Amino acid sequence: MTSRHDVSSRRLVTNRQERTKTMNCYDCLPGATTTPAVAVCTRCGAALCRDHLYAGTTEVHDTPGLGRATHEVAARRITCRVCAGAERT
Ligand SMILES: [Zn+2]
Ligand SMILES: [Zn+2]
Repeated sequence: MTSRHDVSSRRLVTNRQERTKTMNCYDCLPGATTTPAVAVCTRCGAALCRDHLYAGTTEVHDTPGLGRATHEVAARRITCRVCAGAERT
């Protein structure tokens, strides 16, 4: 007779370690709330929740040479609302 208790307790420890690594949204801090971040601003490096991120697109450039230097499909580019606003002014 063997028990399976060892396997399940080991999985609990793994979950706890993953939770300590979670970053919180920087823009939620002034409102005294902590929301787990889902992305990072490519410009300022702030961690962002779903409500505070701005997902735009950017053209992909290759090193200049012969032929076209840009790719047809745009890449994803995530910034915070502050950086997105600053880029548009
Ligand atoms: Zn937020
Ligand atoms: Zn930013």
